[in-house]
Amino acid sequence: MAFDIRSLLVATALVCAVCAAARFLLWRMHPAMPGLLHWAWAGVVATGGLLLIAFHEQLPEILSLSAGQVLVAIALAVAWDGFRRFLGRPPVTLARLGGLVAGVVVLVALAHGAQSVPMRSLVNAAIMVLLSGAITWEIFRVTAGRTLALRATGVIYGLNTVFFVVRGVSSLTDTAEAVPLVSAGFYAFTLLWGLCVMLGVTLGMVLMASERLQDELDHQISRDPLTGTLNRRAFASLAEREVARTRRSGQPLALLMMDLDHFKQINDRLGHAAGDHYLQLFVSVAANALRAEDLLCRFGGEEFVALLPNTSADAALVVANRLRTAFAEAAGPAPATLPTCVTVSIGISEMKTTEPLENMLRRADHAMYQAKHNGRNRCEVAAALVPVPS
Ligand code: GH3
Ligand code: MG
Ligand code: MG
Repeated sequence: MAFDIRSLLVATALVCAVCAAARFLLWRMHPAMPGLLHWAWAGVVATGGLLLIAFHEQLPEILSLSAGQVLVAIALAVAWDGFRRFLGRPPVTLARLGGLVAGVVVLVALAHGAQSVPMRSLVNAAIMVLLSGAITWEIFRVTAGRTLALRATGVIYGLNTVFFVVRGVSSLTDTAEAVPLVSAGFYAFTLLWGLCVMLGVTLGMVLMASERLQDELDHQISRDPLTGTLNRRAFASLAEREVARTRRSGQPLALLMMDLDHFKQINDRLGHAAGDHYLQLFVSVAANALRAEDLLCRFGGEEFVALLPNTSADAALVVANRLRTAFAEAAGPAPATLPTCVTVSIGISEMKTTEPLENMLRRADHAMYQAKHNGRNRCEVAAALVPVPS
């Protein structure tokens, strides 16, 4: 099938411009999301490159084919930087970006100087493989959070990498490639492919931003804003799941009810901000003392709950004491205006066969009040099988 290459080039550049506009819109909608502005500028630069190539009959070759090729490479490098920022990785340094562009300019200049079409195609393919491959690599290293749109976009970049490996090989072997901008065969197909990739990755970017928002929303509705721990609602649903799993497996399940001591006094004498600081300090100490599979929740003001799967009351007592002493140590000596150090009292309960979560919480709460009663800064295990009345 033969194509009018110039029309195809103009169409590709126009689609690229529309995609760049869509990316700018995406950035305007979520200006705080990293990487989006880089993707938008990548679209603009790619559009410029393609327009230069489209007007190769009107412009000198160095300004159209060579400069266009360099611009398309820069666009991909900026998109790569955008992906690194979006995924929370350090941005590509200016030195590395400059080195990359300098390398591209040298290669394109060599191909231009040699007046060799296959060499130009080979250089183009090598640049595409390198940068598309880099983006694919960035994407498939991600394991946390929602990744459906991210991986779909990664597949497009992956396919693009493979496409340009094949294109590179064909530019060395296919005699038809010796004619610049040949109107049939692989060159036209490359443009059509590029058009689909541009549309596909732009759609992927929109979906990735929406995926990111969904993750943030989930985080916000399930977390306590001050300490970042699970809030009560999220804890309740995760804990019920854990209770059901424990019933099936017959493994032990322990619960810690933790309450900071004399907290009202801390607020009254040191101020609310100091109180908030101790709450955050407690959570960072607790996060260190607990395992990744344990659930930590801010239950109320200065009360926290931790659910420890596969843990007996005895083992939980060891964990609780470790947490208690670590917190006392992290909080340090009593500030001048406080009569006591900042400490925590902990009550522990272990789930008994068919006991509901509610009951376990009540028993741990009762044990925690026993710890308060016995002098604070200590741990007590709920001994009774008997449910404590609410
Ligand atoms: P006890 O040792 O018996 O637990 O005494 P307490 O003073 O800790 O107990 P009480 O329940 O009387 O006081 C809890 C205080 O926690 C009261 C409230 O001002 C404070 N508080 C609750 N939520 C927050 C918060 O988000 N930030 C700060 N700074 N203080 C809070
Ligand atoms: Mg308290
Ligand atoms: Mg309390």
